[in-house]
Amino acid sequence: MNRVRILVLNAALGPLDYSVPDGLSPVPGSVVVAPLGPRQVLGIVWESERLPGAEVPDARLRPILDVLPVPPLRAALRRLIEWTADYYCASMASVARMALSSSAALRGGGTVTEYRLTGVMPSRLTPQRDAAISALDGEQGTIRELADLAGVSEAVLRGLVNANVMEPVVVEIDRPYRPALPDHAPPDLSDEQRGVADRFVKAVKTRDFAPFLLDGVTGSGKTETYFEAVAEAIRMGRQVLVLLPEIALTENFLKRFEARFGVPPVVWHSSQKQSERRRAWRQVCAKSDKGGGAQVVVGARSALFLPFANLGLIVVDEAHEVSFKQDDGVRYNARDVAVMRARFEKIPVVLASATPALESLQMAEAGVYEKVDLPSRFGEASLPDIAVVDLREQVPPRGRWLAPPLVAGIEERLERGEQALLFLNRRGYAPLTLCRNCGFRFQCPNCSAWLVEHRLSKRLACHHCGHEVPSPSQCPECGEADCLTACGPGVERIADEVAAIFPDARTAVVTSDTLSNPEKIAAFVEAAETGAIDVIVGTQLVTKGYHFPELTLVGVVDADLGLEGGDLRAAERSYQQIAQVAGRAGRASKPGEVLIQTRHPDAPVIAALAAGDRDAFYAAETEARRHAGAPPFGRWAAIIVSSEDEAEAAEAARKVGGTAPRLDDIAVYGPAPAPLSLLRGRYRYRLLINARRSAALQQTIRDWLDDLNFPPGVRVGVDIDPYSF
Ligand code: ADP
Ligand code: ZN
Repeated sequence: MNRVRILVLNAALGPLDYSVPDGLSPVPGSVVVAPLGPRQVLGIVWESERLPGAEVPDARLRPILDVLPVPPLRAALRRLIEWTADYYCASMASVARMALSSSAALRGGGTVTEYRLTGVMPSRLTPQRDAAISALDGEQGTIRELADLAGVSEAVLRGLVNANVMEPVVVEIDRPYRPALPDHAPPDLSDEQRGVADRFVKAVKTRDFAPFLLDGVTGSGKTETYFEAVAEAIRMGRQVLVLLPEIALTENFLKRFEARFGVPPVVWHSSQKQSERRRAWRQVCAKSDKGGGAQVVVGARSALFLPFANLGLIVVDEAHEVSFKQDDGVRYNARDVAVMRARFEKIPVVLASATPALESLQMAEAGVYEKVDLPSRFGEASLPDIAVVDLREQVPPRGRWLAPPLVAGIEERLERGEQALLFLNRRGYAPLTLCRNCGFRFQCPNCSAWLVEHRLSKRLACHHCGHEVPSPSQCPECGEADCLTACGPGVERIADEVAAIFPDARTAVVTSDTLSNPEKIAAFVEAAETGAIDVIVGTQLVTKGYHFPELTLVGVVDADLGLEGGDLRAAERSYQQIAQVAGRAGRASKPGEVLIQTRHPDAPVIAALAAGDRDAFYAAETEARRHAGAPPFGRWAAIIVSSEDEAEAAEAARKVGGTAPRLDDIAVYGPAPAPLSLLRGRYRYRLLINARRSAALQQTIRDWLDDLNFPPGVRVGVDIDPYSF
């Protein structure tokens, strides 16, 4: 009898064996539909020797029902799924689900029926219908996708279809893909750039695993160098994946890509509409040499698990970025997974950054990555001058945050018709609102966090769970009016301060709140490029990617902010952020200046920035990491235990702590309340695990947790190489 082992995509289940009925011919990687109890589930055919499972007698096997008409997942992707699950202590099913987009994309047929609102209101408006209608405004997708999105049952949506509140639309998913033109508008590269580009092009031609660390200062023209490698891969008929950290970056990037290659790339990110994702997924797995297949995908981290037909190159731009680390579900670091995918695919991978992660530099030093450098800015641009403003001596007026030298700097720019950028990594108006009368503080009901005032939208919002209330006019505790006080600055408050000092200056607040969609981003970029904005006040959203020729002053409002909290990576992250935002200044022919406001001018981060001495910073950071047994010298992991019930969470965490293995090369700390001890309504405890590099960290954690049982409300998550702790 013909039997197959299937990785079933329900996380709770291990691999299962099925029989193959006549007429179906699944191969490893085939996506199949299989019966499971009364239901039908999706699964992937796996090599049984790689995926051990219970031996089921032939007589008890059930037959698979269908093999879906999509290309089988290739061996390289199957190895990546195995590696990711193993390394990050996740289930293979949860990793595999990232590779298969929605089931509608898998069903084939070339068209799919999607639904959207008609604008007609139902005669009977139940709370569920009401919730669905407001959640689905502007959305389009299958009933199942929309039900997930709106958090209602499929039956509610079917009811809306019957009541003509929603209508079906038949969508072509196999839309032809316009091929990119590798020789459309090649730039004249500088000699430095040419050397680097040639190195990449050669690696693409060689068709072998080759990891590169492209270390180039901001504005050195890194993008142009890897674009040459992209062009070569396209000429060879192979596909390219460019990973970008934040979706706000792409608008700018897509324009640039289109200018170079004549067409926009295929985009992949989580806030896309379902129908766009479905189409992108189908284009990615179609063979590009037969026409119709996507050649270049520009995507966020999850694009790493797409089933490329013929991948020839991966680029991770801004590879140091924290947002490559996924912090829920499968907790993986896309930078590391990208290197593994390149290894399994036997292709080059380029990690590009002006401020590489210490781990990446270490890998280059150890000879694992090939390091290529672009040490100077492209063209006439020079690196900006950086100076420190000591806030202990240069004190801003009461209730203000801009010290005299920074105010003077802005004034100069206004007089010269140039631009200034003020950086503060805090959205909203003020991080805390309290009552002067009774001391009441506005706190999130779902999280251990303050509500942040957003004056532009007149709301108080939690930045962790999204909980919002309209800004109150009186204290909910004592009932007093006019007693609510904003404490501390956010970007909106800094923009108010600029307006108060320079009433004629045109300011723009740039955060994920104000640039919430591609149209708003495009409008902002246009305004900034044409000089219609004098002062930009922004969060880390403005630290990368943008290139504004008139921008000659960058002010870091509070350089100490990122250093608070005792997080092991705080210093590195702070350094990277400030170096990146400083890199926005003086990118064209006009020289740039950077003013860093701080109370700790002697902190290694600040001193290294002011001296322009990156090596000094990395040397200090290396020592700190060595001392803490942190990567690359040792390894950390975290186990997060959570429940909606505080006592249950505490009890489960004690159970994990009480069964901790006693080993020489692994130390376990905790449990203790996690830094956000309440998050989205769940109480969280955390154990930290520090291991020597040689220790079998993952195996130890798996053995330890596999033996434990918890009540159904308890979740236990493992975070290998955690970012924030
Ligand atoms: P990085 O990614 O290293 O910060 P970019 O690739 O964004 O640098 O390049 C900085 C600026 O220099 C961009 O405006 C880019 O268009 C320009 N540039 C870089 N290389 C060239 C080139 N060879 N010819 C013309 N312009 C270039
Ligand atoms: Zn919250």
